[in-house]
Amino acid sequence: METKTKILDLAYEQVKELVTSTGEKPYRADQLLKWIYRKSAASYEEMSDLPQEFRQKLEETTVLFTLQRLEESVSADGQTRKLLFKLEDGKTIESTLMFYEKTAARRERRTVCVSTQVGCPIGCYFCATGQQGFERNLHPGEIIEQILYFIRYIKREMPSEDRELSRRAITNVVFMGMGEPLANYDNVRQAITMLNSRHGLNLGARQITLSTAGLVPQIKRLAEESLHLELAISLHAANDKLRDRLMPINKKYPLAQLLPACLEYFEKTGRRPTFEYALFRGVNDSPEQADELAALLKGMNCSVNLIVGNPTSCREYRSSTLQQAMAFQKQLFARKIFSTIRISKGTDIEAGCGQLKSRRLKQPEQDTGERH
Ligand code: SAH
Ligand code: SF4
Repeated sequence: METKTKILDLAYEQVKELVTSTGEKPYRADQLLKWIYRKSAASYEEMSDLPQEFRQKLEETTVLFTLQRLEESVSADGQTRKLLFKLEDGKTIESTLMFYEKTAARRERRTVCVSTQVGCPIGCYFCATGQQGFERNLHPGEIIEQILYFIRYIKREMPSEDRELSRRAITNVVFMGMGEPLANYDNVRQAITMLNSRHGLNLGARQITLSTAGLVPQIKRLAEESLHLELAISLHAANDKLRDRLMPINKKYPLAQLLPACLEYFEKTGRRPTFEYALFRGVNDSPEQADELAALLKGMNCSVNLIVGNPTSCREYRSSTLQQAMAFQKQLFARKIFSTIRISKGTDIEAGCGQLKSRRLKQPEQDTGERH
């Protein structure tokens, strides 16, 4: 059986080739992509300025969307919405939509947290996804569709009076869902290119954050790309012995390799890396460990995100209390390392990894440039 081309898997030039191969003029590619990315079309049928014959041809030879929504959970405060999607092969992934209200310093944000793999090959011991094992990489279109789905969802279910928000339903995308984005480098890069492209979603690189467990060669590769994304690194420990215990990837790429790669990323892109540090009770949350973290990051142009409140399936890794997190933050602050505390919300709907809707506590003294 002939498999149909999936439009969302294609880069701009490929869409153009496809369009011209059907005998249409190249500008039809721009029209088609505008319908998909800007006008949130749900079907070819809606694309009213494309010739009927062309739409028919697209219908016969290509597929527009492949994700099937299975379940939706909404957190008690309505600010976090998690969707479970079924992929074409029956496997499932989760994506989360998070609302952040407007503050004095920042505009309202609507952030989609996307998955990049089914399961994850990295196998961090505290992470539910990591403990599920790895099934497969997501294709570019499967990554993009998670975002397009939420855009249609917002436009349909929560129309806004605000012109800017109705024009741009999603303001930020974070690669913090299931999977390790840098272990699926090419597909993730292609998806991001379309999100960023003016032929695609036209989302600024500053609005896109990629979180990695610390794949050093890929961080270096990313630093060479013209796309200067925001980079978050899951650190969680300030010495190799402890980090080895939490994240097996540290044995391959220990801190002495990881930190210089992060510095290189900053030097090449001008983007200050964010270190994520989930606080686990009695594991990595003591004042001495805060001192150690401060010493490790001393002089580095970076920010630190402390994460509390995430449930783990593992009894060994229970989240620290907020009190403990604040003491840890104070200790860091005394050593001139500024951090934000991210309190995971949406835990009532088990919104996966560390990608949860968060309420952040900042140190009053300064702005840490929080992003997602
Ligand atoms: N694989 C990437 C991105 C997905 S996980 C990465 O690891 O960075 C997104 C974030 O959630 C990471 O910082 C990850 O370490 C964190 N995380 C996963 N499980 C968690 C848990 N149980 N508690 C707190 N943070 C967790
Ligand atoms: Fe994979 Fe990230 Fe979970 Fe580690 S924390 S297992 S890298 S998803």
